[in-house]
Amino acid sequence: NRQIVLDNRPDGEATTSNFKLVTSETPALADGQVLVRHHYLSLDPYMRGRMNESKSYAASQALGEVMIGGTVGEVVESRSPKFKPGDQVVGMGGWQEYSVVDADAPGMLRKVDTTHVPLSYYLGAVGMPGVTAWYGLVKIINPKPGSTVVVSAASGAVGSTYAALAKARGCRVVGIAGGPEKCRYAVEELHFDACIDYRVHGDVKSMSKALKEACPDGIDGYFENVGGYILDAVLLRTNAFARIAVCGMIAGYDGAPLPLQNPTLILINRLTIEGFIVSEHVEVWPEALKELGTLVAQGKLKPRESVAQGLQAAPEAFLGLLKGKNFGKQLVKLI
Ligand code: NDP
Repeated sequence: NRQIVLDNRPDGEATTSNFKLVTSETPALADGQVLVRHHYLSLDPYMRGRMNESKSYAASQALGEVMIGGTVGEVVESRSPKFKPGDQVVGMGGWQEYSVVDADAPGMLRKVDTTHVPLSYYLGAVGMPGVTAWYGLVKIINPKPGSTVVVSAASGAVGSTYAALAKARGCRVVGIAGGPEKCRYAVEELHFDACIDYRVHGDVKSMSKALKEACPDGIDGYFENVGGYILDAVLLRTNAFARIAVCGMIAGYDGAPLPLQNPTLILINRLTIEGFIVSEHVEVWPEALKELGTLVAQGKLKPRESVAQGLQAAPEAFLGLLKGKNFGKQLVKLI
């Protein structure tokens, strides 16, 4: 079983030398356990926080241990009545080719149906990132039809799902993404009403001007994935009682400070700003996954994926994700 472990902690920017590829024997199964062969590994921004010792929104991960991460795959051996060989499953198998899982541990392994939803989507639009978009939009922003809602990292796993969910609720949806190709894709394929390239609009003044054009009626809801000057520019365009779901601040994950220039707007516009962590809201997952699965089955949600080949490609692909080199949900294909 080939595995990637966290070898040492980054000092500032993460590098491939923080990781190590090792090989180990897969232990024999005990009663109640199953052996899963991973087909895809999910790479997600929260993993950057886990590499540090300091407090982040995800707990720190121990050195020498297999990197934690979502996986989809197939049960190849089972000593549990709940699973049989051939079952397709989603779990948290980590950066390795196989995992041994206690079938009874709550939330560790779930069977999935691939009749209408491709297996890999259970790591993206019909998985954790999809539920994240759903929670922020439905439970925090809670938009009315006709509202204008904005999202940063618009072409990514969370952002692309957010667009489909917001469109289904009759909103005007505006994205912010890096580069002309991602912005074109957001409008043409993801049905955003407009998408702003932050590489062109690289400061508060320029971004707020672009937002004014894209959101002529102001902003009623914002889903924050990036932080920094983009948040400042959005604050300038918020309507009274606008709601902001703070999901991520990827611009600061390597430790860069993200100062705010316009916090008085929180008061002036009576804003509601709420941070959240999707894994703490297990109660909404069934409802969210049902809607997301239906949108995929109906062809209304067809998110793009960036697929790296082979376990050894995971560190490089992960570092790329933190720099926007991915285009859509970042996965690693293992077989
Ligand atoms: P994405 O698929 O969107 O990939 C990350 C994207 O972030 C990149 O493609 C890049 O897009 C953008 N990005 C990276 N660095 C910067 C930067 N400095 N400035 C602006 N944009 C940048 O990832 P996900 O959809 O999986 O995650 C999106 C966000 O949601 C992250 O912040 C993540 O931490 C957060 N999240 C939070 C959860 C929670 O429970 N709170 C759960 C899941 C995700 P581009 O090229 O457009 O810049």
